[in-house]
Amino acid sequence: MTEPPAFAGTLMRRAALRSIGAGLGAGVLSACAPRLAASPSPLAPPTDPAATAAPDLVDLVRFDPRLRLDIRYATPANFMHRVLYPVARAVAQRPVAEALSRVQTRAEADGYGLLILDAYRPWRITRAMWEATPPGKREFVADPRTGSRHNRGCSIDLSLHRGGIEVAMPSPYDDFTPAAYRNFTAAPPEALRLSRLLESWMVAEGFVPLANEWWHYDWAEWRRFPIMDVPLENVTAG
Ligand SMILES: [Zn+2]
Repeated sequence: MTEPPAFAGTLMRRAALRSIGAGLGAGVLSACAPRLAASPSPLAPPTDPAATAAPDLVDLVRFDPRLRLDIRYATPANFMHRVLYPVARAVAQRPVAEALSRVQTRAEADGYGLLILDAYRPWRITRAMWEATPPGKREFVADPRTGSRHNRGCSIDLSLHRGGIEVAMPSPYDDFTPAAYRNFTAAPPEALRLSRLLESWMVAEGFVPLANEWWHYDWAEWRRFPIMDVPLENVTAG
């Protein structure tokens, strides 16, 4: 979901995320004017001077039809409990797509395929997540002032499937418990094996795993690409 959080205890984190979802469902948080006044969100994405590459977004399924999607943010079945994306689409920078395609080929050699859960995320969605989160719990979401690597089209959340059926991983997607951590060892051995297998394939193609989320990978050269805010439905990706 985000960059690495400053971990403040499992139970607190789990409770915080439940609370975030509950607040959204009730529509309470957006009405909290004093909080917004005290901590205004930026109105436009930040500019990173180091991001000098021209964006070259690619529709992942069009680029490689072997890739399968399960875009949870296009459904209410996500930690926010509401639809965040109007389309179930996965878009990423071209070198990211090329690397993913190579990982897909590697996975197929072992009888698996990639299941993409999220890729490019418009900055406005990161801001919406931030605004819907109580100030005391914002360590769990990316700060819109710095943006997320998903905003750069350089992060991929993914799992594996076998014959179209998602495999069991150490935890569900966006499950913010120690079971999501890559150093968690109490999951079923087959789930740990598959998570590590995916990690070895991703790392071999230039992705950097996020320690606290088995599903999240950053393209190693993410810093070259700018933070973007093109709505997902408007991306004219090749
Ligand atoms: Zn992610």
